[in-house]
Amino acid sequence: MIHEIAVVSGKGGTGKTTIAASFAAIGAPLVLADCDVDASDLHILLHPTINKKEDFIASKVAVIDPDLCTDCGLCVTHCRYGAAYPPHIDTIACEGCGVCEYVCPTGAIRLEDKVSGMTYESQTRFGPMSHARLHPGEGNSGKLVTEVRKRALRLAQTSGLEKVLIDGSPGVGCPVIATLTGARLGIVVTEPTVSGIHDMERVLDLMARFRVTPLVILNKYDLNPSKSEEIEEYCREQGIEILGRIPFNPIMTESMVQARTLPEYAPGSGITQTLRSMWNRVVELLTEIERARGRH
Ligand code: SF4
Ligand code: SF4
Repeated sequence: MIHEIAVVSGKGGTGKTTIAASFAAIGAPLVLADCDVDASDLHILLHPTINKKEDFIASKVAVIDPDLCTDCGLCVTHCRYGAAYPPHIDTIACEGCGVCEYVCPTGAIRLEDKVSGMTYESQTRFGPMSHARLHPGEGNSGKLVTEVRKRALRLAQTSGLEKVLIDGSPGVGCPVIATLTGARLGIVVTEPTVSGIHDMERVLDLMARFRVTPLVILNKYDLNPSKSEEIEEYCREQGIEILGRIPFNPIMTESMVQARTLPEYAPGSGITQTLRSMWNRVVELLTEIERARGRH
């Protein structure tokens, strides 16, 4: 049985990737999936060696043959996205709906595959990694996340590894839904701020809807004790386990600057020990989930 563990956050900048990379160092060997495709940065810490790289095609785009175009203007009046400027197409605005191809009287328009980004399969010092890059201005990040996860699962199967650790997108949009659907555990990294609590609640709500077992990590908990208590209170009321509390410590940032994971940069630090305990609890929970499923 392959377990997918997603590390997410209600917003960016909570320390999600630092924590996911630390779990990778502690839990290795495992498969990594960087599903933060709009701003992927796990590779900065993990220095993957790329084994396979492919175009990511999720949509079509219209192309006009200027030799066939009579400039009748029909495509302009029928395009609801304002993308037709014969003999050119605004490829960012074009949604690939095909209406212009249908109405063009001279057959000057055809739909072509649109390359929205790249997918990568790589090797890191902690295990195989599936990651991607979305080209600037491109949508389809949800589809790309699904593709990254699919490839990560395949890597897990071929390498005989049981855990896929996902660095998810921040927020509650389409890429996060694609990150969480079907995941076994969802770890929300939050900070004790007003927006931190609000964003955490939204992502926990999403997990409840997708039946993902939730856990919460309270990062920099000592910076605002009363807000931290509010988060703890909320989790107690909702029956959500706090996986751990991490105090503010500049070594987190220092390790990032050195492009290393925290357990590698500061193996004997208190935070590394805390992260180890958290990972042990994750493994324990996965065993419990597996046992419970075996009984049903
Ligand atoms: S509908 Fe066809 S022929 Fe008319 S302007 Fe558009 S591309 Fe040209
Ligand atoms: S494919 Fe659709 S969106 Fe793109 S130019 Fe044609 S009508 Fe407009």
